[in-house]
Amino acid sequence: ERAEKKSRIVILGAGESGAGAAVLTKVKGFDTFVSDMSAIKDNYKELLDSYQIAWEEGHHTEEFILNADEVIKSPGIPNDAPIILKLKAQGTPVISEIEFAGRYTDAKMICITGSNGKTTTTSLIYHIFKSAGVNVGLAGNIGKSLALQVAEDDHDYYIIELSSFQLDNMYNFRANIAVLMNITPDHLDRYDHCMQNYIDAKFRITQNQTPDDAFIFWNDDPIIKRELAKHGLKAHLYPFAAVKEEGAIAYVEDKEVKITEPITFNMEQEELALTGQHNLYNSLAAGISANLAGITKENIRKALSDFKGVEHRLEKVARVRGIDFINDSKATNVNSCWYALQSMTTKVVLILGGKDKGNDYTEIEDLVREKCSALVYLGLHNEKLHDFFDRLGLPVADVQTGMKDAVEVAYKLAQKGETVLLSPCCASFDLFKSYEDRGNQFKKYVLAL
Ligand code: ADP
Repeated sequence: ERAEKKSRIVILGAGESGAGAAVLTKVKGFDTFVSDMSAIKDNYKELLDSYQIAWEEGHHTEEFILNADEVIKSPGIPNDAPIILKLKAQGTPVISEIEFAGRYTDAKMICITGSNGKTTTTSLIYHIFKSAGVNVGLAGNIGKSLALQVAEDDHDYYIIELSSFQLDNMYNFRANIAVLMNITPDHLDRYDHCMQNYIDAKFRITQNQTPDDAFIFWNDDPIIKRELAKHGLKAHLYPFAAVKEEGAIAYVEDKEVKITEPITFNMEQEELALTGQHNLYNSLAAGISANLAGITKENIRKALSDFKGVEHRLEKVARVRGIDFINDSKATNVNSCWYALQSMTTKVVLILGGKDKGNDYTEIEDLVREKCSALVYLGLHNEKLHDFFDRLGLPVADVQTGMKDAVEVAYKLAQKGETVLLSPCCASFDLFKSYEDRGNQFKKYVLAL
């Protein structure tokens, strides 16, 4: 029906989501044009060409773009980019790839957002569904774009990781199961430095939900708690917590993970594959989602206990002469390092540093005091780390050259039985291409020890 009304679609940005959206628009008979301000990667060019989709790179040709009936925007393009402001001023709808793809599938949508834990929880839910033999796709910030899957290989269920940027441009999309892990300050530079704007973006995950749908969230998140009443939620609520408490339908009691709705479920906490308090939340959210979808208790138990984890998130790399090495390169903010330290059961040589995002290290000060035996500052500019941590009196190494030296010095500082943890609190862009590059280098030099 829309295809008749909307004939010209422009896609801005040709990464995973843009290229996928382009394919779906083409398959559905739209007049499609793709425009990317920077260079398009070769594999996406090939994909576009194979569907005979017109594209441009290195600039935006405004007369094409402003002529569109609808625009699909990649999440990386800010809402206040000049081209977006012009489109909005003239009333052209600007939507996200997920919004568009959602129109063309009847699959059940399980959507996960939050400031931390999205990728882990999304991957874990996918793992449970996949292990149980469900016809399921993984989409959103990870894996293949939803649009491309809908175009080429549609599924019965999708497990979708949604960033606030994707949610910003979603209007009619409905999540059958929405999961909100937590809300702590992040990306405020893209929300006019207004926390409420960021919170509202996260709550968009519940928009259009009906009483047939489910909303799963962390019961003890102070912001979610405070905001809950404001957003007119219609879905059935499934709050989870670390311990049994008022309101929570899932929790740990007597060392057992318990889910009480819709079907009672229990397993030994010890059997969970992912350790640490934060991962208990991730496991609870995943368990509730699977329970709601009717996956058997046996399948849920098995998948929660044999999940291999996600690369660069508290990833065990190796044990070298009695010293464990853990790669948590994805810990790009102070809060995620807090959870990493909190989950450590031995003394830790912590490698931290990088591109500072206005970090306040007060949050981890007590844990560093309690858990760390030495610190390795790894970054081009380590002054702030010296200013904050040197006074704790721990042995400190300052490395500005790169990961090889950081790993070697950390290995020297660590005693047998201790753990070397890379959990940097910072973005990676001073010395590395990305957090993946940083984590991969860490693993490479650990394995070379
Ligand atoms: P995201 O996709 O939201 O960035 P990830 O699952 O990739 O989240 O985890 C990023 C980091 O955040 C991990 O390295 C971990 O230390 C921390 N983390 C994971 N889950 C949680 C959670 N539920 N609450 C707080 N921190 C978490």
